[in-house]
Amino acid sequence: MSRFLSNELSKLTAYVPGEQPQDKKYVKLNTNESPFPPSNGVINAIGNKEIERLRLYCDPQSKLLKSELARVYNAEIENVFVSNGSDDILNFAFMAYGHLGVAFADITYGFYSVFASLYGLDAQIVPLNSDFTLNVNGFLGLNKLIVIANPNAPTGLVISTSDVEKILLSNPNGVVVVDEAYVDFGGTSVSELTKKYNNLLCVQTFSKSRSMAGARLGFAIANAEIISDLEKIKYSTNPYNVNALTQIAGVSALKDNNYYKENALKIIENRNYTVTELKKLGFTVLDSKANFVFAKSDKISGEELYKKLKENGVLVRHFTSERIKEFNRITIGSIEEMQIFIEKVKLILGE
Ligand code: PMP
Repeated sequence: MSRFLSNELSKLTAYVPGEQPQDKKYVKLNTNESPFPPSNGVINAIGNKEIERLRLYCDPQSKLLKSELARVYNAEIENVFVSNGSDDILNFAFMAYGHLGVAFADITYGFYSVFASLYGLDAQIVPLNSDFTLNVNGFLGLNKLIVIANPNAPTGLVISTSDVEKILLSNPNGVVVVDEAYVDFGGTSVSELTKKYNNLLCVQTFSKSRSMAGARLGFAIANAEIISDLEKIKYSTNPYNVNALTQIAGVSALKDNNYYKENALKIIENRNYTVTELKKLGFTVLDSKANFVFAKSDKISGEELYKKLKENGVLVRHFTSERIKEFNRITIGSIEEMQIFIEKVKLILGE
């Protein structure tokens, strides 16, 4: 119990990010980062001139970055929002629309429940079906802030665009956030639907497919009304929330979009390899469209596999909640990393 925090905040269970161990070099498959470096354009974009300019505040409107995003995502600038990672946008969405009430799945990105408690919201939890697919009907007619990760984390499963539309149509007085952090690895974005539905907030990130997790850059596409709500919150908290170097890196990354598309294809290939090998070893593997797979074996518990992999220099993510404790979430890295991972699993299982 803190002496200074309010009672409500003292009770808050904060989000626990995946381990970023500094003790030794692991094959790091635990936080869904990209194994590929940023594009040459990004690497070359930041030199002495840009560093000297750090004495100045950055452009709070992120004009260049927004116009590049508008070009790539076929939107108008007034429909684009940028922020310090997509976590920042999700935070703003909860801050802005939490008063409507909030609903999300039981097994989904862990930050949603942290934001709900941060803002004192009594979240409506809609359990996933027994096969871990989203219970779409459970989200109909709620008229709340509805938050759906598509692909979902940590399952990697997707819902169809027509299911998203069903949810949008039946919640005209709610805001539907579709968190598309992993969409570039085989999902379908609903960003175009923001032209048709004024209650849709489509959120994406540069952290995964664009190899920039450390730069902290997220963006959203939505109707101008929603974007202006988010801008209001941003200007009421931290107008400079996307720093100068990240803005430059973001613009350069968008100019090199093909490089990132090719990388996403390589991840899909490496995912196919990993799924095939895990299945050969008897694992149950969910049908992931993300840069990770969610898998369990009936030969070893989820926790034991996680621990043994760690002892063998491979980090994966294990969650302790009852429904998924036998699973591990394995980020898809380079083919070499995935081969090491499979070898270590074989070693652990004695195969
Ligand atoms: N949404 C989902 C579903 C995620 O898994 C993550 C990554 N932890 C995020 C959003 C946040 O990503 P970032 O803040 O790096 O953009």
